[in-house]
Amino acid sequence: MAKLEIPYEVGSKIWTPGGGMAEVRVECPECCGTKVVTMELGNGERHSLDCRCCQAGYESPRGWVWQRTFESDPVEVELTDIEISAYSGIRYLAAGAWVDLDMLFESKADCETRCAELRAERQANEDRIIFNNLKSKRRDCAWSVHYWRRRVKDLERDLERARAFLTKSATVTNDGKPK
Ligand SMILES: [Zn+2]
Repeated sequence: MAKLEIPYEVGSKIWTPGGGMAEVRVECPECCGTKVVTMELGNGERHSLDCRCCQAGYESPRGWVWQRTFESDPVEVELTDIEISAYSGIRYLAAGAWVDLDMLFESKADCETRCAELRAERQANEDRIIFNNLKSKRRDCAWSVHYWRRRVKDLERDLERARAFLTKSATVTNDGKPK
């Protein structure tokens, strides 16, 4: 009969990466705190716009954004239960949560190495989210300039039409015949 190797006894103490997150206010990286960004079109025309990056919803830009930093340090926990399944293998209950074997370490130094990897992974992921967010907001910005330029053209055309109509009316008498 095959024997299953149980790596740790229930009740033993072991190291696992603890997680945490901190949020700090930093100057908006897009407008450098000025709340305004200037967009230059291909024809050299420049437009100053409210910064979308530090704008929350429909409020005015704030000049600052929240920045998340991830923390992870070794935590010593006691293994209080074990679960063995064909699907997920062996995992332990520690401090109220199920922890996979690859997140448990006998030495604090090995756990520290894993913590550093986790911090780097989470930070890289966060940076990717920020970058994609920025890209989409820049697209919104470009779109809004494009939209309002088109509105100005439409309104100018309508104004011209309205003026032309009034000029034409003025040259016609009440009975509809030209003066
Ligand atoms: Zn900004």
